[in-house]
This record gives sequence, structure tokens and C-alpha cells, in this order.
Amino acid sequence: MGQDDEVGTGADRVIDGTASLERLATGASWSEGPVWLPKARRVRWSDIPGDRILEYSLDTGTLSVYGTDVGFTNGRTLDLEGRVVQCSHGHRRIERDVAGTVTEVVASYGGVRLNSPNDVVVALDGALWFTDPAYGITSPHEGYPGIEEYGGRFVFRHDERTGTTTAVVTDVEDPNGLAFSPDESLLYVSDTSLASRPDGNHHIRVYDVVEGHRCVNGRVFATVGPGVPDGFRVDERGNLWTSALDGVHVLAPDGADVAFVPVPEKVGNLCFGGDDGRTLFIAATTSLYSIRTSVRDAAAVARARQAASRP
Ligand code: MG
Repeated sequence: MGQDDEVGTGADRVIDGTASLERLATGASWSEGPVWLPKARRVRWSDIPGDRILEYSLDTGTLSVYGTDVGFTNGRTLDLEGRVVQCSHGHRRIERDVAGTVTEVVASYGGVRLNSPNDVVVALDGALWFTDPAYGITSPHEGYPGIEEYGGRFVFRHDERTGTTTAVVTDVEDPNGLAFSPDESLLYVSDTSLASRPDGNHHIRVYDVVEGHRCVNGRVFATVGPGVPDGFRVDERGNLWTSALDGVHVLAPDGADVAFVPVPEKVGNLCFGGDDGRTLFIAATTSLYSIRTSVRDAAAVARARQAASRP
């Protein structure tokens, strides 16, 4: 890196021209689900086929194994109280990990089991939104074989206060990554059915969110390639940072290309973090990478704003 035209210019600049990609750790088999843990100053992520959870410490600069035989975890995030919420292919559920004690949050829809939750975000009202494709029950190295019990691959909203689980998006073949726009008026969902069939989709759809819990007017936001947009985040300016085979593609709210970060391994997922929230951590096949940016995660900024406005 280091060339301005690779990373955007002027007002659109989201990465400083002097920023460089660093490989922080390696040794995983397929990396996904990174989350920044601010108190521990660590990045935690999933090595899915290795059935391990890994951590990288910014303080020591070292990799450690947080857990083994963990039920094939995938995407994770923090809830409004800063607790880790994660997807489990093996347990076919969303679960919460508090200091190593893992509890089930939601595992069923309509009285039958979920497929294999893949990625999860938490809205400002505390509701959990997650994708439920079938990779964890159809891919032998990413979980256990199983059948699709409710007969679809949906995006769900789970309200823990009422215990209700609602299907909010039902027209995506293989829903994978998801994220809200900064004001939560839009929900982005990737369709990665290209991973299952040669003529499948590799795009991100966008929906208008109405009444805080319904998705309408779905349309294609952007086609992403090479590879698939497995996981992504939205920054405070509304740009979408998505994984692809060749690196991280940054797309403006209108879908235009803003920046590109080449990564030497296939990228699975990413997250913002670091003490000022402006470091991008990239989970890419065997390794965890980072690069400094000039923006923060939209959800983190919105949460801080919401917390500051409380009486
Ligand atoms: Mg994924």
C-alpha cells in the first residue's frame, strides 16, 4: 500500500495513504467472526474447520487459543452490555459467552431447529439480527451434517425481552453477512450462493427497515467479486467494508467504489476496533491482518451516542 489512488482521495479518503497492511497472527485454517474486545485489548475470532476460537492480544502481540471443541463458531459481535454474542454451526444457535460460560440465546424458529447461524449484529434496541444459511449442516468441515428443518434460509430478528423470533428477510438464497446503515434505516445482507453453485449469487442486497423490525423493498446494492462478500461492516459515514477473494472492498452508500485494500489471502470477515476504533481487523483464511483507517464502526459510534444521551 502507500499509493493514494489505491485507497481513495480527498473527502472520500477512508484510509490514510501511508497506512500499511500488517499480518498480526497466522496458523488458522479458515478465519471468520472477528470481534474487538476493548477491555482485554484483544481480537477474538473463529477458526471454523479447526473448531477453535483464537485471540490476538495487542498488549503482547501474541496469538492464543481461547477455546477448542467449541461447536464450530462463526460470526460474533458485542451486545449492548459488551458481552460476546456468537453464531454456532455445531449447536445450530446464537449463544452468549460471558467469561467462558456459554449459554443459548436462540436455537429454534417455528418449533424446529435453525440451520446454522452465520453472522449476527445487535441493533440499538438490543434485538439480535442474524443470518441462517445452511453451510454448517452441508459443509463437512464446518459443522455436523443435518437437514434444513424449517425449509428456508432466512434472516431473523430475535427479541430477548419477549422471546420472539421473526423472519425478516426470506428472499436471499444463502444469507451470510449483515449490517445496518448508521441510522438503522437500511439493512444490508449478502447472498453468497456462488459458494454452493457456479452460477450462484455474490452480491449484497439492501432493505428498508420500517418500524424497527420489518424489511421491505429489497434490491441489489452491489455485486462483489472476485469471490463472495462473506462478511462486512458499515462505517460511521455509511461506507460498506466487505470481504472478497482478493481483499477488502469499500463501497459508498450509493454502491460506488471508495477504496480497495489488497490482502494476500482470501478474506472471510472483518471488524473495526483498537483503542480509537479506527483499526480494521481482517480475518483472512489462515491469518489475522490489520490496517489503520480514518473511520469507526457505525454501530459503535451510534451506541456511544445513545449512551451519552441517556439522562
Ligand atoms: Mg459468514
